[in-house]
Amino acid sequence: MESTVAQKLDAIYNLQQIDSKLDAIVKVRGALPEEVQDLEDEIAGYETRLDKFQKEIESYEEDIKNLKESIKDSEKLIKKYQDQQMNVRNNREYDAITKELELQDLEIQVAKKKIAEAGVKIDQKKLDLDDLKAVMDDRQKDLDLKKNELSTIVAESEAEEAKLKADREKAIKKVEDRLYKSYEKIRANARNGLAVVMVKRGACGGCFNTVPPQRQADIREKKKLIVCEHCGRILAGVEDEIVEEKPKKKRTAKA
Ligand SMILES: [Zn+2]
Repeated sequence: MESTVAQKLDAIYNLQQIDSKLDAIVKVRGALPEEVQDLEDEIAGYETRLDKFQKEIESYEEDIKNLKESIKDSEKLIKKYQDQQMNVRNNREYDAITKELELQDLEIQVAKKKIAEAGVKIDQKKLDLDDLKAVMDDRQKDLDLKKNELSTIVAESEAEEAKLKADREKAIKKVEDRLYKSYEKIRANARNGLAVVMVKRGACGGCFNTVPPQRQADIREKKKLIVCEHCGRILAGVEDEIVEEKPKKKRTAKA
């Protein structure tokens, strides 16, 4: 059964309306998973940094442990040299041991200085660690909120999406294959997903270029398929009445 141009146009316009609603659902959802992902990446980055801080603290603590060991070694040497100094045979031996003692004393002083420095660094790292943990807690709260929001939105639109998909299956059956193929092709190339539009206020509803009055009259007649000469979209009809359009829902930016 051959359908009329008017029927073809009705069928393809119906499909377009269903697809536009599906696009809107995907669009709303589309931003949130990305935001959730961004936050998860950010938190993972902080965890890596946290790990690094902890390893740095451990490394300074290890340094301190080793320095304390070397101080003990120096102290043992000092004790040994002092004993030796009691039994020297001449001044030269005495002086040589004195130099060794001075050297070990210096080693101890250097080690103590390094221990103090490492202690300062550990304190600083611990402060950084606390700051980082505070930021992480904050981000984690954001993430929990977004995840909640996402699951709510998905839950809200799941039923609608399923119904639209079922409607789409029915709508496709009323569209001829060849027309469906060009529809899909135009839609794929159109940024707003619109392949079939109405003429609104004398302009193409897809690209907003003016449609000349004679062409509008032809579109109104629905005797043949007419596409916009600027964007190639199928022009399904002419909207006459000036209806105040509801502004499209925009996702409000949250502070
Ligand atoms: Zn156009």
